[in-house]
Amino acid sequence: MSETVFSKIIRGELPSHTVYEDEHVLAFLDIHPVSPGHTLVIPKNTDAHTIFDISESDWLAVTKVVRMLASAIEKATDADGINLMMNNREHAGQVVDHPHIHIIPRFKGDTHPQWSHKTYKEGKDIEVREKIKKALS
Ligand code: 5GP
Repeated sequence: MSETVFSKIIRGELPSHTVYEDEHVLAFLDIHPVSPGHTLVIPKNTDAHTIFDISESDWLAVTKVVRMLASAIEKATDADGINLMMNNREHAGQVVDHPHIHIIPRFKGDTHPQWSHKTYKEGKDIEVREKIKKALS
């Protein structure tokens, strides 16, 4: 079980701006938004920490809400697009140890950085592809 600021928000012990709630899922405005309307979607279940240990049913419930909210948030904020983001584990940028998906409105000309891309050295793409396929089996 993870005890985090999000657990307190779920229990109503910390205030938040809820934009959507159902039996399994809570969505609320990020306190430090990348842009207005930046929303966090979380499972109410506090058992998990990341994508790696969230139950399939909680993941499906969360992503269903993310899909629904993405359209509403884009419309409501008059955004030109939406980024979905999930940080998993410290070195991927996760600060709050409770699974959460960021919905981030994007605007033409905004300064939020995009991913930087690299090129595979010869054979490395095949090597990594094979490692991933092996990890799946
Ligand atoms: P992470 O870096 O773990 O993916 O993102 C955690 C997010 O939670 C951050 O964007 C941060 O601004 C947000 N956050 C942290 N504490 C609170 C809080 O008490 N209330 C709300 N609404 N958001 C929070």
